[in-house]
Amino acid sequence: MEFRDLKAQYRALQPEMDRAILETVAGAGFIGGARVKALEERLAAYVGVKHCITCGNGTDALQLMLMAWGIGPGDAVFVPDFTFFASGEVVSFVGGTPVFYDVCPETFNGSAESLEQAIAAVEAEGKLKPKAVIAVDLYGLPADYPAIEAVAKRHGLKVLEDAAQGFGGKIGSKRAGSFGDGAATSFFPAKPLGCYGDGGAVFMNDDETAALVRSLCVHGKGSDKYDNVRIGMNSRLDAVQAAVLDVKLTAFEQRELEDVNTAARRYDSALSGLVTPVVPEGYLSSWAQYTLRLENRQQRDGLQAALKARGIPSMVYYPKPMHCQTAFAHVKQYVPCPNTERLCDTVLSLPMHPYLTEEAVAQVAQAVREELNHL
Ligand SMILES: *Cc1c(COP(=O)(O)O)cnc(C)c1O
Repeated sequence: MEFRDLKAQYRALQPEMDRAILETVAGAGFIGGARVKALEERLAAYVGVKHCITCGNGTDALQLMLMAWGIGPGDAVFVPDFTFFASGEVVSFVGGTPVFYDVCPETFNGSAESLEQAIAAVEAEGKLKPKAVIAVDLYGLPADYPAIEAVAKRHGLKVLEDAAQGFGGKIGSKRAGSFGDGAATSFFPAKPLGCYGDGGAVFMNDDETAALVRSLCVHGKGSDKYDNVRIGMNSRLDAVQAAVLDVKLTAFEQRELEDVNTAARRYDSALSGLVTPVVPEGYLSSWAQYTLRLENRQQRDGLQAALKARGIPSMVYYPKPMHCQTAFAHVKQYVPCPNTERLCDTVLSLPMHPYLTEEAVAQVAQAVREELNHL
């Protein structure tokens, strides 16, 4: 069994996919061009924002937004303690200081209360200037933007949505990628919308920020490519990846997002009684992961080993809180993050993707139940 079956997806899309890739190669326009532009327009329309700018990967996308906002030394950027390393790494990379806040155990996403406490602690100390909040759509579920944006607004902070795992999710009729003052997503192959290599994009409504990001991702270009007005990066999405994403976005819109939600509902009923993921009323998840919470580390690790012995892959996203990462050893922790610490010991993500069959869900669920009987 595959954890995320990209081969099954390719088989389902093969005729269109092969045609799109070969046409792009035959056309020999590999960087930029009409395919990339058309994809950006399609993505912006899908997400419901004015601007989409594609780039090299999701980490660059986050970094480009922080650069466009001028985040640098002395600035505090608030980051959930329970996320992939890149969410905090980019803050340090541009010279700012990540301040980690705790998450809600039910949704795995940033807690507005903990964020408020972290901001208060930084303000009380008076050393760093609070500038922005990063909220992460972990496992495909949009963060609690109504609450997080309210806190940010009270303190005059920008909000950056890390939608690397969240593409396709919704709160009401609003799509992931449209929250906050700007958003970043990733097209890493295993993400809800993935390409055949690395890729990413930023989303925003503000024209000035969009123009800045356009410049920053091509060496700080000015009026043309050889007029350089600022220090930027080289971060672009290849035309071949744009062609791949164009085919995949159609499948995503037509059925994959629905199918992955069907798989989630099947898991929910087959695993009822266990601590299954919570999707709040009015929210839609794109199910980058389907994640159980076990009782303790011993039970979680035992279950993972037992599943592995049965040929069922599972993953621990993430085994370490951000504040415990060696790379952040010098970074001060302003608020306690007990929920994150507990989740790192107890989460386990099961095989999940739109091509997961009813039989496969039943097989995984039965294995989980049987193994938990003696763990
Ligand atoms: C994958 C991921 C990223 C980084 O995306 P890349 O394309 O791998 O650079 C950032 N944040 C989160 C939450 C992610 O899951």
